[in-house]
Amino acid sequence: MARLFFSTGIDELRARIIRLVSTGLHVSGALAILRWCAKSMMPAQDQRQRATFPFIKVRRASNLQILTYHRVNDEQDSLFPATPIRVFEEQMVHVAKCYHVCALEEAVEMFEKNDLPPNALAITFDDGYRDNYLHAFPVVRNLSLPMTIFLATDAIGTGRTLWHDRVFSAFRETNAPDLTGFDHSVERVRLDSLSQRILTMEKVLAILRQLDEAERNHRISVLCRCLAVEERRVDHNLMLSWDDVRLMSRDHVSFGSHTASHPILARVSAEETEAQLVRSGEAIRQHLGRQPMTFAYPNGTKADFNNVTKETLKRLGFTCAVTTEFGINEPGADMLELKRGRPWEEHLPTFAFKLSWYRLMSSQAA
Ligand SMILES: [Zn+2]
Repeated sequence: MARLFFSTGIDELRARIIRLVSTGLHVSGALAILRWCAKSMMPAQDQRQRATFPFIKVRRASNLQILTYHRVNDEQDSLFPATPIRVFEEQMVHVAKCYHVCALEEAVEMFEKNDLPPNALAITFDDGYRDNYLHAFPVVRNLSLPMTIFLATDAIGTGRTLWHDRVFSAFRETNAPDLTGFDHSVERVRLDSLSQRILTMEKVLAILRQLDEAERNHRISVLCRCLAVEERRVDHNLMLSWDDVRLMSRDHVSFGSHTASHPILARVSAEETEAQLVRSGEAIRQHLGRQPMTFAYPNGTKADFNNVTKETLKRLGFTCAVTTEFGINEPGADMLELKRGRPWEEHLPTFAFKLSWYRLMSSQAA
C-alpha cells in the first residue's frame, strides 16, 4: 500500500530547500561526487552507533539498496497515489545509468558471498497490479533492467480485489458526508475534504490491520454499508493476469510471493501462515513452473510479521524476505528482514540526491 502524508509548512519549506540544493548538485555534476563517496566511504561509528574520529572510513564491502513500487499510472488517484509513468521512466533511466541494477535473487546470492558489485540496487513491486505490466514493464524492458514483482496470488488472474483495494474503492466512491457506525475512534468523522477522507481512511486501515482475516472482511462489509457504497470484490482490470505474468517472466522479470490473500501475518496462526505461503507458492509454480524463492511481507513493518513467520519461510525454502522498513542492507544483514524503500520523490534531482545520500549514510560496520 502506498504511503500517504501531508506536509506542514516547515516540511514544505525543507522540501523546497532540498529540491533546490539537489537540482544544483544534479545540474553541476556534483551528484557524481556524492555517488562516488556513497560507493566508497561510510561514516565511522563505534558499536553504539556513535560517530568516531576519523568520521569517514573506506567501505570494505558493497551494500544493497532495494527500491519498492506498487503502481505506475497517470490516474492521479489521491487515495492510492501511483508513480506517474514519466516519473518512473526518469527514475529507471537514472538507476540504469548510475547503479548496478541486479535481479533480487542474484543480488541475494552475491550478497551472501560478500560479492556484490558497487552501487548494487534491486527494483521490486508489491501486490501485482496490472499497470506493472502496462506501464512499468515496457520501461524496464527497454532499459534491460531486471525487476521482481511480489504477487498476492489470490488476486492474480481472478479479478478478486485485495482487502485494502476494497477500502480504497469505498472511500473513493462514497458520497456520504461522514463515517458513522463503523468504529468509535472514527465516529461521525466528516468526509467533505480530500484530506479528511485520506486521514479517515488511514485510521480505518490501521484498525483493519489489527484484525484476523474473517473479522477484517466482515468489517470491510460494515464499512461499505456505513459509506453507502457497494463493496467492490471484483475488478477485472486492476490486477495482473497469469498471461501478463508469463510474458514478463520471459523478459528479466522475476516473481516472488506476497502471500495468497495479503493478510497481516503477525495476526494469523502458524497454520494459516503456512497455508498462505504454500497456496501462493503453488499458484506461482503452477503458472510459471518454478517455486518462488523470494517473499515480501504484506504491509512489511516489523509489527506485521514475527519469528513464526520467519521460521515458516525458512522451512519452506525461501532465501530472502523483504520488509518495508526503510534502509540500506549492509553485509551481515538478516536475509529474512531485508530493508527496502525509496525516496518518495517525483522530482528527479531530489530522488537522485536522496538515493545517494541514504547510501552514504548507511552506517552499520562492514
Ligand atoms: Zn502489499
